Amino acid sequence: PVAPASNFIRHIVERDLEQGTYATRHWARCPGDAQHHAAGEPDPAKIRTRFPPEPNGYLHIGHAKSICLNFGLARDFGGVCHMRFDDTNPEKEEQEYVDSISDAVKWLGFGWDAFGESHLYFASNYFDFMYRAAEYLIESGNAYVDQQTAEEMRTNRGSLTEPGKNSPWRDRSVAENLALFREMRDGKHADGSMVLRAKIDMASPNINLRDPAIYRIKHAHHHNTGDKWCIYPMYTFAHPLEDAYEGVTHSICTLEFEDQRPFYDWVLERLAEGGLLAHPLPKQYEFSRLNLTYVVLSKRKLIELVEKQFVSGWDDPRLPTLVGARRRGYAPEGFRLFADRIGVSKADSWIEYTILEDCMREVLNASAERRIAVLDPIKLVIDNYPVDQSEDCHAPNHPQKPELGHRVVPLSRELWIEREDFMEEPVKGYFRLFPGNMVRLRYGYVVKCTGVEKDSAGNVTVVHCEYLPDTKSGTPGADSVKVKGNIHWVSAAHAYAAEVRMYDRLFKEAHPGAGERDYLDDINPNSVNTITAQLEPALKEAKPEDRFQFERHGYFVADSKDSQPGKPVFNRTVTLRDAWQK
Ligand code: ATP
Ligand code: MG
Ligand code: MG
Repeated sequence: PVAPASNFIRHIVERDLEQGTYATRHWARCPGDAQHHAAGEPDPAKIRTRFPPEPNGYLHIGHAKSICLNFGLARDFGGVCHMRFDDTNPEKEEQEYVDSISDAVKWLGFGWDAFGESHLYFASNYFDFMYRAAEYLIESGNAYVDQQTAEEMRTNRGSLTEPGKNSPWRDRSVAENLALFREMRDGKHADGSMVLRAKIDMASPNINLRDPAIYRIKHAHHHNTGDKWCIYPMYTFAHPLEDAYEGVTHSICTLEFEDQRPFYDWVLERLAEGGLLAHPLPKQYEFSRLNLTYVVLSKRKLIELVEKQFVSGWDDPRLPTLVGARRRGYAPEGFRLFADRIGVSKADSWIEYTILEDCMREVLNASAERRIAVLDPIKLVIDNYPVDQSEDCHAPNHPQKPELGHRVVPLSRELWIEREDFMEEPVKGYFRLFPGNMVRLRYGYVVKCTGVEKDSAGNVTVVHCEYLPDTKSGTPGADSVKVKGNIHWVSAAHAYAAEVRMYDRLFKEAHPGAGERDYLDDINPNSVNTITAQLEPALKEAKPEDRFQFERHGYFVADSKDSQPGKPVFNRTVTLRDAWQK
């Protein structure tokens, strides 16, 4: 494996390690909480990053970038990456997503066990700490309970050109704020009737600092904490606390959170002043999110594609979800290669889908065993080959990896070949089968085309040939006759007729929905073509998720859902070469 190219975040980590920024750690403590680290204890992990999805949906290829970045940094710099479910929002989260996200991260090749501990965290376990932090902000004059309506709050927030207006409740006493906040906690007030706000600056040029809400009332059941709480922290308040509580050093997020960084630091600094946290505090760094051509990566759009049944489900092989990509046959190593290749920066840009496909080709070319598949079959009859006889041919499983051995491919009198490997009237430069011409049946004999049969409409239905018995591949006579064409085939008597889904891109436009268009109008109407192909018999034994190169065609995977034992169904992962044409 090649070491990932450096990037600005790796430079920051290298600098911090050199300067010993995080050499001494002080862990956040919350009264009554079972935090396992003792204060001041040396941290065996040199850095801590985290991947913090909200368990409210399936991960997509954009998340893979973030996973490779965060887990990759921990792997490369002797640290830990925390798998953290950001489940502070009641109602929306489900176990199904927790399981699917955990699976996806492991599938990509990462884990969260390190230094003898599991680093799997649920942010909802810190509600006591978050509540304590909120009370501290009230006690220190840094937060107040606001009773303006949502509408009033919106109007009084101002705009980019207008400063905001102070709430009439902004100058309540600490005692009154504390009492009201406790009433909120105790369920004495209705949803939306009041919120706790940070007291910062209603005239700040950064709107995020105009007294952001930090706790709201929500009488909702939480999957982890049940009905214990009817107030929940806002994401922008919870996030820095989660990072600090877990001892995260480098909190890496996408660029749209850049404007939130001053609030992130504000929260942590205030709590450090109050002794709830100690320096060094976590630092937030932003990178540009992945934008990929020919796909949509927005959760809302993915939900719409599934709900309106443009695809068969979250794991439809055409979707850019990780469950879909996995079913499509994309390899985890390919995603890791892709993440290294596209790098990490702060520049917003579009990545060409072909870069991802090239990474998959590269990885699959190196790893996938070769098999023979005839996707558009036409019969080839070897007239001078005995009826009811067959023999073994030997095909290497991988041309560059002899250690992967070979397999037996039976040859008999009637074969399937690709329709395009025969032309009755050959065009210039065509070296495959045409009457009078000789080609090699790959791993078999040289054959000479002798004629055709046609149906009443004049379509060729059967091609006839004769073989040259001394020319079998792997025998001394193999090179006695030189031919230019080399075609693949399967024995008709032994072939496995399989369902093969020829997948293509789900969108026909590089930027679905760009300009005035509705992205749904950019859906490619031919994103799947299901065919019956004739496969070499060894493919009957393929297990779900086994990946192959079908020689001359591309990479295919045995479908994980629709395959039956002894009766696999195949999905086309990617063609051998970039064949996408608009
Ligand atoms: P939403 O905001 O719609 O809930 P999200 O994609 O932000 O969706 P999270 O569950 O919060 O969902 O994402 C987890 C992590 O993945 C975040 O740190 C986020 O920055 C990162 N991430 C999400 N989308 C991308 C993307 N396209 N490229 C890179 N990182 C991404
Ligand atoms: Mg999010
Ligand atoms: Mg998401």
